[in-house]
Amino acid sequence: MSDPVLALDLGGTKIRGALVHGAGPEEALRGTAPQLERVAEVATPAAAGPDAILSAAADLAERIRSGTTVRAVGLSSAGVIDSGRGRVTHATASLTGWAGTDLRTPLSRRFGVPVSVLNDVHAHGLGEARFGTGRERASLLLVAVGTGIGGCHVIEGRAVIGSHGAAGHVGHVPVPEADGVDCPCGRIGHLEGLASGPGIVQLAARLGADRSLQDGRALAAAAAAGDEIALEAYRIAGLATGRVIGALLNVLDPEAVALTGGVPEAGAPWHDAVRRGIAQEAMDVVASTPVLAATAGSHAALLGAAARALDELPAR
Ligand SMILES: [Zn+2]
Repeated sequence: MSDPVLALDLGGTKIRGALVHGAGPEEALRGTAPQLERVAEVATPAAAGPDAILSAAADLAERIRSGTTVRAVGLSSAGVIDSGRGRVTHATASLTGWAGTDLRTPLSRRFGVPVSVLNDVHAHGLGEARFGTGRERASLLLVAVGTGIGGCHVIEGRAVIGSHGAAGHVGHVPVPEADGVDCPCGRIGHLEGLASGPGIVQLAARLGADRSLQDGRALAAAAAAGDEIALEAYRIAGLATGRVIGALLNVLDPEAVALTGGVPEAGAPWHDAVRRGIAQEAMDVVASTPVLAATAGSHAALLGAAARALDELPAR
């Protein structure tokens, strides 16, 4: 068995890592699942600046590697990533000073192996395409609906990253239901402002929800108990999300769509509305595209980061 990849997933609240065995394209084709070993995580020192964040990631990686030879490091990170240069080009305020950070150099110095760097949603999409819903499919559109809304289109096992590393910003598409709603990107009327987890909580408040319903979990519980305002918020957000997915089917025509993130866990009212939204926008030829729950699991981004690191290794 060849040496594992040291995979890291660096997000706004947590840094996770693991040794990943068997994440190469041969294993994906054979259908054998990669194995994760020594999975561990630490809190991200998000406000402490890039040096502190990177050293927390490197310390975690060191602990995970302890005594094992690794072939490469595969890093999945929040922010828009220039994978070629291994740098963050744009980032939200959730990681202080993150934009401009060189992720590759410090890690390759410390570990002495090739370091591959990928945006976290792209890593998640790649992991899902190779080892989850996308296995044995030529293309997959992953749509993640949680704190934000993002996505990744994977074609023939390659994540579409875009010329600026920004492809897949599914949340930053205008949709009529979001008219006049502020989006975290600074624009108005994008899907994410309306239909992300925090967006839905704010939508419910605008609809007159009880003031105790201040987070997604409370709102989902209220909807499950039949609270009409909570249900309406999920219906509106689901419909808008479905309309955007339907429009994307018209543009991208993926073989399947995989849904992931916290919001899909809210259950049937949201899913039913997503289906209605897709039916409303998708052309007949793409209207029956399967829309499925993601199956690669909570470590999909680690799997994708590991797979990408192996893709980038020079051929031997
Ligand atoms: Zn936006």
